[in-house]
Amino acid sequence: MKETGIIFNIKKFAIHDGPGIRTTIFLKGCPLRCWWCHNPEGLRLEPQKITIENKNEKEKLASWETQEIIGREMSVNEIMEEIKKDIIFYEESNGGVTFSGGEPLMQLEFLYSLLHECKKQHIHTALDTSGYSSLEDLKKINNFVDLYLYDLKIMEDQNHIKYTGVSNKQIIKNLKYLSQNGKQTLIRIPIIPEITDTAINITQLGEFISSLNNVKRVIFLPYHRIGKNKYDKLKMEYKMKDIQSPTNEKMEEIKNDFENFGFQVKIGG
Ligand code: SF4
Repeated sequence: MKETGIIFNIKKFAIHDGPGIRTTIFLKGCPLRCWWCHNPEGLRLEPQKITIENKNEKEKLASWETQEIIGREMSVNEIMEEIKKDIIFYEESNGGVTFSGGEPLMQLEFLYSLLHECKKQHIHTALDTSGYSSLEDLKKINNFVDLYLYDLKIMEDQNHIKYTGVSNKQIIKNLKYLSQNGKQTLIRIPIIPEITDTAINITQLGEFISSLNNVKRVIFLPYHRIGKNKYDKLKMEYKMKDIQSPTNEKMEEIKNDFENFGFQVKIGG
């Protein structure tokens, strides 16, 4: 157990991170480097100082810089105080708390402590994860997680390595483990033009998810360019320069293809 960790956001009244009204806690740090990541401020484990260039739009010549720190150390008690403020909303909406990131499993001991405290308070817990951890680490927190929001991206491993920086072998192995244990899991697939939306990848994803016995619902997350400004502020390279968001028609087409595998499919959220 660890009593403090680094977080970079707490989102109240979240309605897209699992059932009901939720509080989403964003833990800093992720071992992946997905080209399309829209939370680049969550990638590094430690707090980061960024410089923001401000411009006065009326007087074009005036500009000044301000600094901001992303991420801060918080204790389990401090976070639980925030979480407990909204217990009444979780109860009325069948909601709860979602741990997201970054990759929350990267701060395993801290995550364990938070999940443990939530279950002591009988609060529903969801884990938004890339699935990239050792099986041993996953097993450690598994009993305290009610629902997994599990990201699947690319089935072909060399492409997975190219676009995320890591192999998908452990991710697939961990998902199979959750399936064998009947753990409630919702799969989320980012739809990235020319990267994850190819016919072969969609077919391979559909076939693999069909082989699992714990997944009935799949959510497609269409790529958007909202994160681009953050890359500029963080002075990080944005690799998605020429790629645009998928059209509604394309999203519907992929949704129909996927529904043929027998899943309920939702776009967004
Ligand atoms: S796993 Fe999620 S947080 Fe990590 S790099 Fe990929 S999109 Fe970003």
